[in-house]
Amino acid sequence: MVVPVMEETTTHKHTRPVPLGKGVTAGGTDVVLMAGPCAVESYEQTRAAAAVLAEHGVRVLRGGAYKPRTSPNTFQGLGEEGLRILRAVADEFDMLVITESLGVEHIPLVAEYADIIQIGSRNMQHYPLLWAAGETEMPVLLKRGFMSTVREWLLAAEHIESRGNDRIMLAERGVRSFDDATRNVLDTSAIALARLESPYPVIGDPSHATGRRDLVIAAARSAVAAGADGLLVEVHPNPPEALSDGPQSLWLGQVPDLMEQTRRIAAAMGRSLV
Ligand code: PEP
Ligand code: MN
Repeated sequence: MVVPVMEETTTHKHTRPVPLGKGVTAGGTDVVLMAGPCAVESYEQTRAAAAVLAEHGVRVLRGGAYKPRTSPNTFQGLGEEGLRILRAVADEFDMLVITESLGVEHIPLVAEYADIIQIGSRNMQHYPLLWAAGETEMPVLLKRGFMSTVREWLLAAEHIESRGNDRIMLAERGVRSFDDATRNVLDTSAIALARLESPYPVIGDPSHATGRRDLVIAAARSAVAAGADGLLVEVHPNPPEALSDGPQSLWLGQVPDLMEQTRRIAAAMGRSLV
């Protein structure tokens, strides 16, 4: 009699690699670092961040032009001017751009200026937005709603795919818990589970998960250890002066540490960091 030593995994689907452009692929052997400011505030601020990131080999520049802010009395983003800045800076450093489309009406402009569409946590179940992103041919990063189950998240991704676009990545960005010691809780189980049960590459966002700069690198390490195919990290040339998410933004001087530490974890997983 053969004694089973482990149960069969019946749910695993292979992760479907998503080409992002410029030879960068999410969901393959590389762990893809996407980094930049929470919000595009000016050309100088964006360029200062990108210059340091590019110097360290980061290929994907993040930055919000349309910001989903809790209060209407805070900085809401530069809009199309922000998209223009992102594109100009990214082109200077041969980087790709990921930026959020806050509504259906932003999709055409985001598609014109960016390489990857981000759909934010608050919009995870905004179905018309998911359908509109699904009607493009662009890679889409779907962030998990901070009060959404893994099942709801995966089904939201299927809404995008239902319109013909299968270039989908998921982002675990922390969920709300009883404890306000950190902004959210990074759900590393969900990273492993989403990779196991869906074909989508999964990106970890240690910035929104922790809300604290001094915890971001530890959370980044744990996301990669859980199997994340990439990281989305906020950095700023002067975090105390940032117009959005300063407390969780890394100083540019922390970029080498972020990269060295996550590179080591990636190497332990047989992967490289790009
Ligand atoms: C962001 O990436 O800056 C952002 C607004 O993230 P989230 O949608 O996860 O809150
Ligand atoms: Mn942010």
